[in-house]
Amino acid sequence: MSRIEADARELLLRRRRSLSRSPAEVGDPAARWGDWESTPTPPPENVRRELADIDAALARIQEGRYGTCVNCGGPMGLQRLRAIPEARYCLACVGHVEDRG
Ligand SMILES: [Zn+2]
Repeated sequence: MSRIEADARELLLRRRRSLSRSPAEVGDPAARWGDWESTPTPPPENVRRELADIDAALARIQEGRYGTCVNCGGPMGLQRLRAIPEARYCLACVGHVEDRG
């Protein structure tokens, strides 16, 4: 496992832990989930989707496919992985893929 994958895995596991619990239980300023505080009820759909993205990214790390876009197969770029470790698409693809829904 490369350094990038190890770092990403650490981030993803920490994120998943914080998402699996309520913000009050977390009490960790590093695990920012601002939306939970601004809305009276937690958005389970968003959280489920994010957890699925995190699990998919962890699976890609396990399979040695981490860091490549699932749409075009091109490299994600270090900055993007650092910003969004669970990202599925490269910057070139993310716009039109997400537009399609
Ligand atoms: Zn792409």
